[in-house]
Amino acid sequence: MSLNTPTYDLIILGAGPAGLSSALHLAQMMPGIAQRTLILEKSQHPRPKLCGGGLLPDGEIVLRELGLDITEIAHVDAPLAHFDFAGQGLAMNAPDESGIAFRLIRRDEFDAWLAAKARASGFDIREGVTVKTVQASAQGCVLSTDQGTFHAKAVIGADGSKGITRRIVNPRETAHSARVLELIAPPKPEASSHIQQDAYFDFRPIPTGIGGYIWDFPTLVKGVSSRCWGIYDANFTSGAATRPLLEALAEEMQAHGYDLSEYKVEGHPIRWFESKAEFSSPGLILAGDAAGVDALFGEGIAPALGYGRLAAEEIVAAFEKNDFHFSRYKRRILSSELGKSLRLRTLTARTFFGIRNAPIQRFIWTKLGAPTTFYVQSFLVYWAKRRQKKG
Ligand SMILES: Cc1cc2nc3c(=O)[nH]c(=O)nc-3n(C[C@H](O)[C@H](O)[C@H](O)COP(=O)(O)OP(=O)(O)OC[C@H]3O[C@@H](n4cnc5c(N)ncnc54)[C@H](O)[C@@H]3O)c2cc1C
Repeated sequence: MSLNTPTYDLIILGAGPAGLSSALHLAQMMPGIAQRTLILEKSQHPRPKLCGGGLLPDGEIVLRELGLDITEIAHVDAPLAHFDFAGQGLAMNAPDESGIAFRLIRRDEFDAWLAAKARASGFDIREGVTVKTVQASAQGCVLSTDQGTFHAKAVIGADGSKGITRRIVNPRETAHSARVLELIAPPKPEASSHIQQDAYFDFRPIPTGIGGYIWDFPTLVKGVSSRCWGIYDANFTSGAATRPLLEALAEEMQAHGYDLSEYKVEGHPIRWFESKAEFSSPGLILAGDAAGVDALFGEGIAPALGYGRLAAEEIVAAFEKNDFHFSRYKRRILSSELGKSLRLRTLTARTFFGIRNAPIQRFIWTKLGAPTTFYVQSFLVYWAKRRQKKG
């Protein structure tokens, strides 16, 4: 290693939920590591991040374990999550006595809040620094950035779906990415306050080959009650959709009194979990979107927070043994409750989005409410609760 460039024990690439959760878990597990770690982030918090902001109870469990209280920041509580096909289906409520199915946060505020917590734990977050290349090996890593070169014994790649680290670990991989569009609109003028609080998922686009759903969430944008609309397509078979996403979203919104052309629509991919993929290479481990999140709903905030714990455990084990090959990281992920849930979600999404017959889809959501709810709650979500139960 060169002596005239900064050298750290650890560099975390990306200050989103995955990178910041990794840091906060490390602060708990490895006293003193914060001072020997550098977090590099190309944006500046509070930075915009396209996201519906739906934070499931799993995410809150992880935050609570870190001693963090989500109610410190602005949020909306959604008492019910409706899962529909063409407007009819089932409603899932809270898994506990909280009365909240899930909460909706804004990512600029949430990520800035997490970054402030990481800074308070002693981490140096260098913002406005874009990492250009990472050369990683078990003997050390070199990161070249637009502001110089940095060295570290290990790197956590938490640079999201469009980051550079995924490709380093999986150089020959074809993309496993969902297509997602999103916009912010005012609340529905005619709706009652209870409808305004609920979150809606409608799987109506599936028969047109779009592997996903349209969402309509309550949200609070700078204190103003709003709706976040969007469309998710897991995109398992590229080109399978017979209809543009924008057209499907416009039609659904029109049925609720909105004219999509009045709103700014933005898109961003979500990289979903593929158990055949690699999650590390010597010197480098992936977390969050870089590693792959939920293929079924595109849920990535709570998984990113969960990856933070797994990444931190792996880093602690590496420093204890002074071995940075990270050859057991994949096993750590696949055997975790988070890994099992993500693996099953990919499998479920492949099967479920393949059922393009509208009457069957309607039947699933309207007639199979109890078994569907049981399956989703027992196997797909609430992985953090299952981990806690196992101890
Ligand atoms: C439209 C949309 C809606 C969504 N809605 C939801 C939802 O409602 N609920 C939910 O749970 N999930 C949702 N997701 C998924 C969720 O946003 C992601 O899974 C989550 O952000 C993953 O966190 P992360 O920390 O892995 O990555 P990110 O949040 O993307 O953070 C990565 C960070 O790395 C930085 N970075 C990247 N490259 C570099 C570089 N070269 N140098 C320096 N820094 C770099 C980025 O600036 C960024 O801050 C949605 C995603 C999209 C696109």
